[in-house]
Amino acid sequence: VGNVVSPLEDLRVDRSRLVDRLARLATIGPIAGDGSCRLALTDEDGAGRRLVSGWMRDLGLDVVVDPVGNVVGTRAGRQPGLAPVLCGSHIDTVATGGRFDGNLGVLAGLEVVETLNDAAATTRRPLAIAFFTDEEGARFAPDMLGSLVFVGGMTVAAARAVVGIDGSTVGAELDRIGWAGTGPNPFPAPAAYVELHIEQGPVLEHEGVDVGAVTGVQAISWTEVTISGQSNHAGTTPMALRHDAAVAAAEVAVFVRRLALDLGGQQVGTVGAVTLRPNLVNVVANTAALTVDLRNTDEAVLEEAERRLGAFLVALAEQEGVGIKWRSLARFGPVDFDPGVVALVEATARRLGHSVRRLPSGAGHDAQMLARVCPAGMVFVPSVAGISHNPAELTHDADLERGANVLLQTLVALTERDLAPTATAAARASS
Ligand SMILES: [Zn+2]
Repeated sequence: VGNVVSPLEDLRVDRSRLVDRLARLATIGPIAGDGSCRLALTDEDGAGRRLVSGWMRDLGLDVVVDPVGNVVGTRAGRQPGLAPVLCGSHIDTVATGGRFDGNLGVLAGLEVVETLNDAAATTRRPLAIAFFTDEEGARFAPDMLGSLVFVGGMTVAAARAVVGIDGSTVGAELDRIGWAGTGPNPFPAPAAYVELHIEQGPVLEHEGVDVGAVTGVQAISWTEVTISGQSNHAGTTPMALRHDAAVAAAEVAVFVRRLALDLGGQQVGTVGAVTLRPNLVNVVANTAALTVDLRNTDEAVLEEAERRLGAFLVALAEQEGVGIKWRSLARFGPVDFDPGVVALVEATARRLGHSVRRLPSGAGHDAQMLARVCPAGMVFVPSVAGISHNPAELTHDADLERGANVLLQTLVALTERDLAPTATAAARASS
């Protein structure tokens, strides 16, 4: 019984298979509210990796693991010697992760491959799926660490030496869970990269638009601030004689919000983590460690925000009689995606009958790293109420299906194109 080979442009994904894989991956590292916790390189991440790489092999993909645990599964193309078109995302989560962030881009890639396999369809170029290590940065900074190493923007040695929030290192944890592979580094540049992701913001839902053609990613700056004061008795120490690290930390949080509001436009600012020592009810804190996350689509304004933060910290140390040190945890400039890929995503969504708009991404994504070495772009689907990094994160099944079909058809179109990798040594290293 011979297969009837469908024209590639008529192929569509199987919604229930995609939804089922998302549900099965979400059972690894489960947390209350149907979410997941798979911090990078933990045992839970290892279990998720085994599940997804097993699915890759079941679909006949050739699976390669690089030295920092990035995993690439490749489906051969018709014409030998051509670079693959790559899709993918990440399967690590924040501690309060949902089931869609990252996972969708990887599992939709599997669904694309299964759809092609079922139709016995071939593509001119190979098609590959990647999941990148430590995209979230919740355990090891910077975020997007794996894809940064993948494109040669950070050495394997530097990545392995990164110390996490629990004192472990990337290298030790990669070795412990058995995911330091022998694949090439930097990885050979793909012909193009497309990432399907949930929007993680409210714009598409608010406007009633099905699909986002992502134009780029805003610049991001993470700073760790360490404040040193003096522990003392909360009852006997006069207010005027205190060197209170907790108060100084609170001043920073208030300043960051005021800074973002003053700069206006696209500027956002967040103090998301504060650790006090000794963290006791009746003791003035001697140490506060906190993080500042600043983002803007405009690099010049972000630099101004960083400058003002630095000046504020100098003044605050003087005012509160505390020591303040700070260091950068992550700093990436804004990224514009390839105009050809953006236009293709937009045209593909239209052809499939979906409403579509162009929009920038507020969050960082692996696609911004891949954009250093090849034409890259992203497909967004709506997030209910814009909620993400939360177990309540939700994208409706119909939207998952639309996004996966746009991914499928965008990838298929790219596999037939003549595309030259844009990588140069300088481009790889630049931000
Ligand atoms: Zn993500």
